Amino acid sequence: MKRVFLFVLLMVFCKKPFDLKVEEAKYDAYLAALPELRPVPKDKPVELAVHYVKADNLPELDVNERTRLYRLVEKLCAEKIGYTVQIREARLVKIRDFFASASSLFTTSPLGYPSQAFLVSYFAPDRDKRIEAAVAAAIKGNRAKVKEYLGDGYAALYTRAFVGKLSAIFAETDTKGNPLLSKNNAEDERYFSYGHWSSILQGEKQADFFLTNAGIIGADNGMPLYVIARGGITSAFIENNAHRPYQGVGVLGLYPFLADTAYFNEKRGKLTREEKIEAIAWIWLHELGHLLLKKEENYSFADSVHRAPPDLRYYEWVKRVRGTKDHRSAAIAEMKKF
Ligand SMILES: [Zn+2]
Repeated sequence: MKRVFLFVLLMVFCKKPFDLKVEEAKYDAYLAALPELRPVPKDKPVELAVHYVKADNLPELDVNERTRLYRLVEKLCAEKIGYTVQIREARLVKIRDFFASASSLFTTSPLGYPSQAFLVSYFAPDRDKRIEAAVAAAIKGNRAKVKEYLGDGYAALYTRAFVGKLSAIFAETDTKGNPLLSKNNAEDERYFSYGHWSSILQGEKQADFFLTNAGIIGADNGMPLYVIARGGITSAFIENNAHRPYQGVGVLGLYPFLADTAYFNEKRGKLTREEKIEAIAWIWLHELGHLLLKKEENYSFADSVHRAPPDLRYYEWVKRVRGTKDHRSAAIAEMKKF
């Protein structure tokens, strides 16, 4: 799903040496110059190099579970979208080391731009004002969808609900008993940041997909309605990539699937280990509809795997789409850029 980002407010925070206005223009020019996307042919096996990025303090899938997940995704790809996919976990890296090695990318032009510009930090003094501007932009001119995702209300009210949900998630305790994100580990915010992952995905040269037991969670200035409705959770996403064979690289954040906390048990439902793995596999299949078939986000065919779950009830979505005979791939338009 292509996000449209709000930049007007950011200009206030421009600081040398990274001038966001200049960087935005360079980034836009870089994206415009990328070749158009093409669907990946089905006549040869698709090899996906997966890097597992592990946070030691968060629930995770062990190596046997990841292996089961990879085989299940391969099976679903063959059955549902017609690809022979071979997933290979090529690397396991600790999230701290991973972000340390990516840090130069964050300050490099033009791909550092998303990491500098998209995040609305949980700790920003004007956080709620900036979130409200992002919410207002997302709800503009889209009343029917707004009602479906957020109910009756207005930007300030939606913002309050959003901040309440996000605060509840970040207050959850990790496996060591500490809050997921607080002033004590504020530097960990980038592990959850859509913008930082966006820069990483676009600069990556070896992986086709990152699997991490962190999550893509937080406020940014391009959140679509369904991310606002979930309290800032993006399950997974794909970015353009000029280095990798399928023209894109993806990330899937496992935390919203694996967390057994009050927020997730309520919003997602309590799931068994097997149900969690199955839900992750289907979300991954949805993402491969973007990466391989180059399909746009679909909002029309409710029983199709190409329609992402509208909320966090991942397993109810799985039960709905897994019996579908025709996922309507042929009827969904292709993207020119991720
Ligand atoms: Zn999608």
